Amino acid sequence: MDARLIIEKVRDGVEPTQAELNWFARGLADGGVTDAQAGAFAMAALLKGMSDDARVALTLAMRDSGDVLQWNLGKPAIDKHSTGGIGDCVSLLLAPMLAAVGVPVPMISGRGLGHTGGTLDKLEAIPGVSTEVSEARFREIVDEVGCAIVSASNKMAPADKRLYAIRDVTGSVPSIDLITASILSKKLAAGLDALILDVKCGSGAFMETEEDARALAKSLVSTANGAGCKGAALITDMSQPLASAAGNALEVVEVMQALTDPKNSRLVDLSLALGAEAMVLAGLDTAPEVAAVKLRDGLQSGAALVKFDTMVAMLGGPEQFSDGWQQRLPEANVIREIPAPKTGKIAALDGHAIGMGVVHMGGGRMRGGDRIDPSVGYSDILPIGAEVQKGTPVARLHASSERSAQAAERAFQAAVTIADDAPSLPLILGKAG
Ligand code: URA
Repeated sequence: MDARLIIEKVRDGVEPTQAELNWFARGLADGGVTDAQAGAFAMAALLKGMSDDARVALTLAMRDSGDVLQWNLGKPAIDKHSTGGIGDCVSLLLAPMLAAVGVPVPMISGRGLGHTGGTLDKLEAIPGVSTEVSEARFREIVDEVGCAIVSASNKMAPADKRLYAIRDVTGSVPSIDLITASILSKKLAAGLDALILDVKCGSGAFMETEEDARALAKSLVSTANGAGCKGAALITDMSQPLASAAGNALEVVEVMQALTDPKNSRLVDLSLALGAEAMVLAGLDTAPEVAAVKLRDGLQSGAALVKFDTMVAMLGGPEQFSDGWQQRLPEANVIREIPAPKTGKIAALDGHAIGMGVVHMGGGRMRGGDRIDPSVGYSDILPIGAEVQKGTPVARLHASSERSAQAAERAFQAAVTIADDAPSLPLILGKAG
């Protein structure tokens, strides 16, 4: 086969065959396709778009470029994927909640990307935890606990790894077709039966407008279904951080509060909604309302906490982490309140700027391979609609030094809009699938 002919087909809006895309994806994985050809392919796909069938074919080809896991758990294997946001620690809460009601969750997750945090970095804020485990250990934890959150091995969807890096430097990231194939090739390589997608929309998300978020949700759902994995998506608000903290250890605090003393919060509400949709999608329940009651019971009874503790211990963390967990998490050197710059209501929070504030404090990576500081970030972030007086706290910052704290304070104050009125924002904006 000839890479040029495949690129020309995409450029001209002609569908490449499954065999051609398989060959191209293998070439991405083993170097048979050059960087220039991969970049041209990505740009042609971005400018011309792909048909539904071609997108499914590309996703399958990228999935099959490496190892594909298979499960035999007696029940459908379920996972959840979020397109990325600020204070989004749902995966850490939802995986043990599903395991507590007997639903297996073999979750292969990611690290921070751009201004958004990553589930693996958050979980590894717990001392001793390592999410880089062998496939055998991954299977052992899923068998024993019912859920495991781990990183992908280099052998899974290697075509995506290469294409993603090339898209990143060729201006071809924001293609809905390529984003879909990229996300799903990795998730499908994990051998799932059903996948619930949380497509974020707003200032802290990659898709800022509802129209773009809906288009991505539709593309993800139809492609997952076309590739043989049941898919559904909720489109959810990301115009403010989901939890009231942003930062790795600080988000573990939010998760531990939800597991040990569950109350209604945006984090708990969204975890229940996504979990319930996933259970219905997998055919394990008939109605989301019924599934949500079971999930809430598992949370309130402490069963989800036991699952979390066991998973943490099996990933190398402390035994019985929930005993004295507050003392076991890393704490930043400088912790102080951020005063409101004026009196009024919080009318907007720039999620992108807050996320970048965490990255600049050292809580995310400026370059791949950077070490992150798990202790830093923002906590006690007031939600949109909260009333503040000039000088009263809008959030608390956790920084490694006074200099970093000053920059983080300025960044947060610039990210907050205080006005006489505030919009009321629903958490769930819609559903696809
Ligand atoms: N996340 C991914 O895994 N791939 C993309 O292309 C965008 C977000």
